[in-house]
Amino acid sequence: MTGYRTAVSNFVGSLPAVDISTIPDEDMTCPYCWSRFDEVPDPEDGTDNTPIVATCSSVRPHLFGRSCLIEIMKSAAASPPPLCPLCRQAIEIPEELFDLDYDMIHDDLK
Ligand SMILES: [Zn+2]
Ligand SMILES: [Zn+2]
Repeated sequence: MTGYRTAVSNFVGSLPAVDISTIPDEDMTCPYCWSRFDEVPDPEDGTDNTPIVATCSSVRPHLFGRSCLIEIMKSAAASPPPLCPLCRQAIEIPEELFDLDYDMIHDDLK
């Protein structure tokens, strides 16, 4: 069985990064940590600040660094679904993540 946190990491990890050459300069900053997006994950500290589109229902794509999007989603482990920090809409995650029973979420938080 996969816990919520692992499932979130796997899900966000599977989302394709946006090609940074297509992002206007004013949108090149992660709105969660204010770092500039990277084209590839940082090989030194392992942070992945490649731009990922949050699966919120905003018309305009909301981009976050991959590591930050994982953090945002993990922080909602106790009460999914997670909310997009920019538009406060639910960040949609695959159906199977919602089928977690309480014990699984609880185990995951230990
Ligand atoms: Zn960030
Ligand atoms: Zn949003």
